[in-house]
Amino acid sequence: MAVRDKTIISTGYNGAPRGLPHCLDIGCARKGMKSGTHPELCRATHAEQNVVANAARMGVSLFGATIYIKDVPCVLCAKILINSGISQVIVKGCEYPGYKDSIMMFSKACIEVKRLIPTGGLILIDIKLFGR
Ligand SMILES: [Zn+2]
Ligand SMILES: [Zn+2]
Repeated sequence: MAVRDKTIISTGYNGAPRGLPHCLDIGCARKGMKSGTHPELCRATHAEQNVVANAARMGVSLFGATIYIKDVPCVLCAKILINSGISQVIVKGCEYPGYKDSIMMFSKACIEVKRLIPTGGLILIDIKLFGR
């Protein structure tokens, strides 16, 4: 979900391109493979990429927007989000494989990644914490 000025300006979810059958309906070619591996085999697009695509479809700029995501995005999504012009990423968790690489990429692009904490509030996820 992309937000600017307390307003939702775009949303996206993991799914097949418009008009194509979803993996849940006809099965996924990645079935049985480890999470985060061989994304090219799956017909679904990641929610983060769909946020950007849906914004483009409607002519909405994501420049300066904050993105809310369940987990730190994969590296592919991180690259696309960086180039969309977003300024901040807020996540619930850090469970996606390769999330450290994504955080490092955001860090180098001067985009803050913050984590929602269950008790309320946000903490900055600092790449320095990972010793890289
Ligand atoms: Zn799939
Ligand atoms: Zn992704």
